[in-house]
Amino acid sequence: MATVFTKIIEGEIPSYKILEDENFIAFLDINPNAKGHTLCVPKEEVDKLFDLGEHMYLQLMQFSRRVAKALEKAVECKRIGMSVVGLEVPHVHVHLIPINEMKDMTFQHKITMTEEEFTDLAATIKQYLQG
Ligand code: AMP
Repeated sequence: MATVFTKIIEGEIPSYKILEDENFIAFLDINPNAKGHTLCVPKEEVDKLFDLGEHMYLQLMQFSRRVAKALEKAVECKRIGMSVVGLEVPHVHVHLIPINEMKDMTFQHKITMTEEEFTDLAATIKQYLQG
């Protein structure tokens, strides 16, 4: 069965999209640890990060870096934290999280955002993408 992220990639369910190219997509996490929490996902439906081919793995890091640079400019934070978990959705994804303190990386503290806030934030982040 297709993962929820494949459904997003195929446009079957909506997302707050930040960036998409031939092989990857980035969108806002729907249950964010912090404002700007973004997921970078390869379109290829692979469960575990280190099962990606080496080329795809390196490309995912390159794609994630581009998104992280935009996030850092768009959202006030000390830095961008990066995490790969995958216990909930078995489809590789890099969590990029604008962080100010360690608890922002724990996935135990969540923030709530309105639909309008998600939409506005995605638009703001997009403005800072380069290249
Ligand atoms: P994990 O698989 O443990 O790395 O976590 C999966 C992440 O995907 C969680 O942070 C969820 O909030 C996020 N997530 C699940 N469904 C969606 C969705 N439809 N849109 C955006 N984010 C999602």
